[in-house]
Amino acid sequence: MTFQTIRTKPIDAQKPGTSGLRKKTRVFMEPHYLENFVQSIFDAIGGGAGKSFVIGGDGRFFNVTAVQTILKIAAANGAAKVIVGQNGLLSTPAASHLIRLNKTDGGFILSASHNPGGLDEDFGLKFNAANGGPAPEGLTDLMFQATQEISRYFIADFTDVDLKTVGQTRRGDLEIEIVDPVKSYKALMETLFDFDAIRALFASGFTMCFDAMNAVTGPYATAILEDTLGAAKGTVVNGIPLEDFGKGHPDPNPIWAKTLMDLMMSDMSPDLGAASDGDGDRNMIVGRGAYVTPSDSLAILAANGHLAPGYAGGLAGVARSMPTSSAADRVAQKLGIECYETPTGWKFFGNLLDDGRATLCGEESAGTGSDHVREKDGLWAVLLWLNILAARKVSVDDILNDHWADYGRNYYSRHDYEAVDSVAANALMSDLDRRLDTLRATKAGNLVVSNADQFSYADPVDGSMSNTQGVRVYFDGGARGFAIVRNGH
Ligand code: ZN
Repeated sequence: MTFQTIRTKPIDAQKPGTSGLRKKTRVFMEPHYLENFVQSIFDAIGGGAGKSFVIGGDGRFFNVTAVQTILKIAAANGAAKVIVGQNGLLSTPAASHLIRLNKTDGGFILSASHNPGGLDEDFGLKFNAANGGPAPEGLTDLMFQATQEISRYFIADFTDVDLKTVGQTRRGDLEIEIVDPVKSYKALMETLFDFDAIRALFASGFTMCFDAMNAVTGPYATAILEDTLGAAKGTVVNGIPLEDFGKGHPDPNPIWAKTLMDLMMSDMSPDLGAASDGDGDRNMIVGRGAYVTPSDSLAILAANGHLAPGYAGGLAGVARSMPTSSAADRVAQKLGIECYETPTGWKFFGNLLDDGRATLCGEESAGTGSDHVREKDGLWAVLLWLNILAARKVSVDDILNDHWADYGRNYYSRHDYEAVDSVAANALMSDLDRRLDTLRATKAGNLVVSNADQFSYADPVDGSMSNTQGVRVYFDGGARGFAIVRNGH
């Protein structure tokens, strides 16, 4: 095996966001594109010498090729060990767990989340830090800077590694461990949930449909729900990860998981419906004839979490993103714990979780998670719901209605205006911003504005400020409205 130093030049726009670098697959396949970015990550973290990493992805087109390339660049940068999911597969939460469990120096996660996959669709690469969470902004800034200055990358010329076989292998000084992608994750879930109670629930005739959307959670859901918890064969549908997700859009919401929604609203509905996205961090929960909004799901998990052994000691606090409904706030109030309102992006939750201030977190964009990893976790949310259903022995619809009776109900609607003229959109936002001070006591329809502001977040852990995170308008009676501009996604 020899190491080569390849001369290269900076490539434009390799700027990673909080979810890494996402581009069209063909862009990632261009000469030096992936290599430049991976080398820039190594340069940003101070090199790879003696370090260990986790590598895996959601199985989309180009996943395996990219894993092989990263292995060769890791070897040439002096890495000591890499842990790779079998066939290059790891869900995002499972990768986060492996980083933490093995105390590695970080991990490379190949995914474009819920975006479609394939040669003409999307690909992505994200680096997670040693806490298992997405690289913080300071680090992604260093990565971007490295991509703008890069003049060479290091790569080994060994033959491709057999990713199909679980076990240890070596290439020079690099130890490569191919692991069952499900095993450690499943063991973690067994520490959090009452598997015996869930087994008894399925044994009593409880039925479920889990739509894995031909994405990475298929093997996880089959191994845990069917093979371990005794759910009937066929409970998991679209359970084989496909490079193009079966030409679907692996986004677990009523539009893209329409087949599941139709089933749940029909006479043939099982007791519980659930779905997860491309890389397994998002989730959707549906009861028989009853869709559970992500905001209600967070509030219900917070109110009932103590029924699962992993949370029996109570919650330290809960956190939600600003656009997520305040249903969780009222649960936190009743429990006497803090509820944090953060800007959108899992990194804000990461600080609260690391500091022990929050146990559960959630976003209206179908992400829910806890301090067991540093990513949102789709299957975890489904298992917590199953644990609650097993303990309470009532339907999803009953849980929803009981919750609304106890806490009141939040109605909300999200409207996305995509591909709009950004000049006009920014003008609208600055006009709104200018009027904030004069909005109070004005009427909008039959609602009276009680307050209006520009959302700023002071991180209670590191003291960092995030300003201009969106306009909030409050109305008498507790209603809220928001306007947020997101660029690039
Ligand atoms: Zn995702």
